[in-house]
Amino acid sequence: MNTPMNHTHQAVQELLLINGELRGASNGAFYDNVNPATGQVIGVSPDATTDDIEAAIVAARTAFDTTDWSRNVEFRVHCIRQLQQALADHLPQLIDITMAEVGAPRMACDTIQVVEPLKFLPYYADIAANFQWSSSLGEANTMGGPAERWTEQEAVGVVAAITPWNVPTQINLAKIVPALAAGCTVILKPAVETPWGALALGRLIANHTDIPAGVINIVASSDKLIGRQLVIDPRIDMISFTGSTDTGRRIMADASVNLTKVFLELGGKSACIVLDDVDDIAGASFGAVFGLAMVCGQGCALTTRVLLPRSRYDEGVAAIAALMTGIVPGDPTAAGTVMGPLISAAQRDRVEGYVASAIEQGARIVCGGKRPEHMPDGFFYEPTLIADVTNDMRVAQEEIFGPVLVAIAYDDDDHAVAIANDSEFGLSGAVVSADEGRALSVARRVRTGTMSVNGGVWYGCDVPFGGYKHSGIGREMGMAGFSEYLETRAFAKPVTSKS
Ligand code: ADP
Repeated sequence: MNTPMNHTHQAVQELLLINGELRGASNGAFYDNVNPATGQVIGVSPDATTDDIEAAIVAARTAFDTTDWSRNVEFRVHCIRQLQQALADHLPQLIDITMAEVGAPRMACDTIQVVEPLKFLPYYADIAANFQWSSSLGEANTMGGPAERWTEQEAVGVVAAITPWNVPTQINLAKIVPALAAGCTVILKPAVETPWGALALGRLIANHTDIPAGVINIVASSDKLIGRQLVIDPRIDMISFTGSTDTGRRIMADASVNLTKVFLELGGKSACIVLDDVDDIAGASFGAVFGLAMVCGQGCALTTRVLLPRSRYDEGVAAIAALMTGIVPGDPTAAGTVMGPLISAAQRDRVEGYVASAIEQGARIVCGGKRPEHMPDGFFYEPTLIADVTNDMRVAQEEIFGPVLVAIAYDDDDHAVAIANDSEFGLSGAVVSADEGRALSVARRVRTGTMSVNGGVWYGCDVPFGGYKHSGIGREMGMAGFSEYLETRAFAKPVTSKS
């Protein structure tokens, strides 16, 4: 259905948050924010300068070094709960922004894009409140006198959080909430394409919480590379990055100059393995197709390679194609829309390039493979299934970041595992079987950070998420995602004589 799109946001005038002040860029510059569903400019964002980045670094460093933020857990918990309330009170506005600048369907905003991520706030407030910051290692007599030893955990320091445009609020919150709970101070630099979601957090922080000046700074810029200034600055203690593997590699290389700690959540090319005993291949592939649609294929953990038993390949391809042709891309604000647009014309060009490469390499487009005629204005692309794909083709090895599934045939379980693991990535995956034990044993052999067994949904604020191999370093969310923002120190003192 083609409903009119009237979600312009002239009323939303977001600002940078630097040292507790909501303000424009130092040179007064702005840049356009484009709605990918319409191609129209919906408003502007301040365009931060290198001076603004410098001011944010100074503010975050000063707040960490000269206030008791990192030591006052009770106050931090109070502030996080205030932010939780502010986000809950402004939920419809956050959803409007996400539909408008991400092109995310309302259905995705009600779940993964906005509503689910708000759970990070109570979750990490509780973790900080109950965390055992110090633990005893008892006494030992290693070299000389007996010593009493213990560890203390404390905030890493100043964190630079650099985030992408695909699920911005989820990723922004997955970084800043545990970092703040741990006692870090933060500079958040969102993607060029999605400034408002991040800046709206800054507005709510400034207007509705007691978070002190400098503890969190939020800077948006039209310069994609401005974050490099954060990465190479010796006053930054940690870089928490989510984005492409190529950029992650560059960030790690740049961070090596100061040996700055990095957390990296990068690309994926995950496999959904449909074992040969399943009754219903459509049911077994539903998660892969629905997940793909909800973010228009722009998600690192999507299972974009569907591995089908060779004996049932044609049946499987037909079943998946039937599911995919039922998904009609449309206006993100319409209640029934499951799939919105790609983020930009450049992203659509990239997807089209991959589809062309598949045809060139001998694969077959089963459905999609083109722009939908009924949505001529935005950056839409039809859900696309490519068959007769072998795992060495570019569309099987490289992350497309568009609504494209590739179907690959395998001979037996060992072959399926080998194909799943024949990837530079190791982020996620799924196995579906009529026999749960068999599914689980196949799932355990796939080297990735998360796995779905028989449709189980692993996503949640308490579930650690991250990748093996080129999919990243470290874990976000869950307890592990809190520990990323902590340093561990060890202490010892002489054993005092007991009376
Ligand atoms: P995309 O190519 O889709 O924009 P990226 O992984 O390049 O994805 O971008 C993710 C985030 O990293 C964005 O906020 C982007 O501006 C930022 N970024 C890109 N290149 C660099 C870099 N060399 N140093 C620091 N940040 C970067």
